[in-house]
Amino acid sequence: MKLLIVEDEQTLRSTIEKYFTEEGSVCEVAENLNTALKKIAVYEYDCILLDIGLPDGDGFAILEYLRSSGKNECVLIISARNSLDDKIKGLNIGADDYITKPFHLAELKARLMAIVRRKTFGSNSILNYNEISIDLLGRNVTVNDNMMVLTKKEYDMLLYFIANKGKVISKNAIAEHLWGDEMDMLDSFDFIYTHIKNLRKKLMELSGKDFFATIYGIGYKFA
Ligand code: CA
Repeated sequence: MKLLIVEDEQTLRSTIEKYFTEEGSVCEVAENLNTALKKIAVYEYDCILLDIGLPDGDGFAILEYLRSSGKNECVLIISARNSLDDKIKGLNIGADDYITKPFHLAELKARLMAIVRRKTFGSNSILNYNEISIDLLGRNVTVNDNMMVLTKKEYDMLLYFIANKGKVISKNAIAEHLWGDEMDMLDSFDFIYTHIKNLRKKLMELSGKDFFATIYGIGYKFA
């Protein structure tokens, strides 16, 4: 999962970043409104954790930007403000949920997983695609009722492909989704090819089918 953490309190920002990075997510951070808007304009995220009180403006501006540009990122507002007006305003202009500081990281994670799951795959925690069945809570994948053992990146990649089934996905989009800022340090996409090759092979072994089509010069299509 790829997250953007918009929070000006350095300690809280680092704590959240460390927690979700250890959980296997790709985290990017913004300490103010301007940086956050620049990142959102260029990159895509599964979820934005959004503080409302920022030094250079109001976090609501991000919700307004997302809505006006037709972007579909999940937004979980994290704010010290506990007024009902702010909660209602946030939810009205497109936030998916709202958590008030201070909070437990485990609760933040549970809320975040719930909204990402709901938005991406509907309310069901079991995702079925042909003979593939994914338990989104337990992160277990079965193919024709046989357990498929996947690495974290392969699992994230499979979910990403299923969420975008039938579309051509560029290598760049895959790299950005699964590696975030780190990909700037990688000078080739060979590593993506390796991950896809392994995932493809595991799926073929259990299903007898090849779900991936290579679109030369562009990327891949999952169908
Ligand atoms: Ca703040």
